[in-house]
Amino acid sequence: MSNDKNSAAPSPSAAPSSNFVRSIVDADLAAGTHSRPGMPSVITRFPPEPNGYLHVGHAKSICLNFGLARDYQGRCHLRFDDTNPEKEDQEYVDTIMDSVKWLGFSWEQGGQEYLHYASDYFGKLYEMAEYLIKTGKAYVDSQSAEEMAKNRGNFGTPGTNSPFRDRPADESLQLFRDMKAGKYKDGEHILRAKMSEDAMASPIMTNRDPALYRIRHAHHHRTGDEWCIYPMYDYTHPISDALEDITHSLCTLEFTDHRPFYDWLVETLAEGGFFTRPVPRQYEFSRLNLTYVVTSKRKLRQLVDDGVVAGWDDPRMPTIVGLRRRGYTPEAIQLFCERIGVSKADGWIDMSTLEGALRDDLDPKAPRAIAVLRPLKLIVDNFPEGDTVECNAPVHPHHPEWGTRSFPFTRELWIEQEDFMETPTKGYFRFTPPSADKPGARVRLKYGFVAECTGFDKDEHGNVTAVHVNYFPDSKSGTPGADNYKVKGNITWVSASHALAAEVRLYDRLFLEAQPDAGGKDFMSALNPNALETVNAFVEPGLQDAAADQRFQFERHGYFVADRVDSVAGKPVFNRVTTLKDSWGK
Ligand code: ATP
Ligand code: MG
Repeated sequence: MSNDKNSAAPSPSAAPSSNFVRSIVDADLAAGTHSRPGMPSVITRFPPEPNGYLHVGHAKSICLNFGLARDYQGRCHLRFDDTNPEKEDQEYVDTIMDSVKWLGFSWEQGGQEYLHYASDYFGKLYEMAEYLIKTGKAYVDSQSAEEMAKNRGNFGTPGTNSPFRDRPADESLQLFRDMKAGKYKDGEHILRAKMSEDAMASPIMTNRDPALYRIRHAHHHRTGDEWCIYPMYDYTHPISDALEDITHSLCTLEFTDHRPFYDWLVETLAEGGFFTRPVPRQYEFSRLNLTYVVTSKRKLRQLVDDGVVAGWDDPRMPTIVGLRRRGYTPEAIQLFCERIGVSKADGWIDMSTLEGALRDDLDPKAPRAIAVLRPLKLIVDNFPEGDTVECNAPVHPHHPEWGTRSFPFTRELWIEQEDFMETPTKGYFRFTPPSADKPGARVRLKYGFVAECTGFDKDEHGNVTAVHVNYFPDSKSGTPGADNYKVKGNITWVSASHALAAEVRLYDRLFLEAQPDAGGKDFMSALNPNALETVNAFVEPGLQDAAADQRFQFERHGYFVADRVDSVAGKPVFNRVTTLKDSWGK
């Protein structure tokens, strides 16, 4: 079986549906809001902070930003918002780039890479800060952190002006230069904006003289020890957008209150000649909340650090690297993002939506195979020892052009433990032993023969160790004789002497509660202790050469992928991506 069946098959249609962001873009295009000579009218950006691994929530933002650029012939920049030196690292930069690429997007266009780092703008950001000081729009505040917090007021109470708010611009400028020169310790001074004379009384807290720069004597993963003052996110972000000619700056709803400052800053600096109009505009959308998952980087880190999972790429993690290892396809994640849409309404998306997108993506493209997960020996007593009969099955029931796979029928087979019952319950149609008034049950061994149960063996503990049957040589599937046997049970099997022993990892949701961290709850107490079950399975011999990342549908059991880390040639490890049907919430 070749690997490209997994990647080349077309995915179900993911035609972009309209949403409020697209309506804004359409209106801007009609009005020519962002038309500039030689430039696309839609330039977006995805701005991760390199302080952790990307998760499924980021995928929503990636699909939105890169998807808009794709659909409007614009471009999307990848920008690392690297202004917190203590928390950031090159390791994260590398994995973020990998994840964006794996999801199917590119920041390259027309031979040019639009890969940016906020730290590349440190010089310009500094220059603009001096401009703001000189024009009376920023000042150095020398209050302690406690005084500053106290004087900020709160929602119902206006803040109080800092005693340093009206210090002369020259004095602020000198202090700011000395801050940069390393003359002060962390926290001794801070640069703050002054949007208006009465900004400290603004009903919007983020308008109350927001911090622009703080002192941090810290090593930066890209600029080293060049700087000991670092710009704040709220200051850096709008300027980075403007410097990169971003047209639509999309962020999550919690930034709504930051928009007035965003607009003030880019307008003020455009007036100062630092960039040309039109300036970028910010729009907010609701973040993705997915049930049975946590998406805060801090909480994901805790799962890794506490050893609850094996790493950032543990298949139980909602990180992009985890979803990838679990067996998710980029197409399934894109399809999921299309289906959930983009709106301003906060809410929870059910995990089954993500799993449904995966099934819809994989069903048409995953080759079929047989795996026996909980094996029980079946002995065909009337089948000659050492003989084999080749049986065939389609690689995919809807792709006859993919051909057939073959596997041998032999005297000893593995079947699922659940396919035999000593004392059958009502409506059970698989193997049951003969009784005084009834012969043993007849069942079709799928793609093979019909067989009738004649008895079974038990060990001293009362466990069934083998089931005995006689087969009907003229009942082979696909031959005229097959129709002479009417049976209600049809079960999967593999030949005991040919099957490949394989470790199979049955993954389930990491949390037992739909909203594990809602309302500040301790998410660690909602962990699902059975989120991973490892079984020693037997799979059909053709899977010997399954390549890492190759996906299959194991009949009856769901979708599986050859683990990209632990599979070795001839000895694959399979992860269950998801079951065949949604079994949760039922
Ligand atoms: P965390 O709070 O987990 O650290 P973050 O939002 O701080 O996440 P960033 O690296 O700053 O992480 O995020 C990069 C981009 O991804 C931002 O534009 C952010 O709005 C977006 N994003 C992050 N989480 C989600 C989410 N759950 N749904 C949609 N977009 C998200
Ligand atoms: Mg952030």
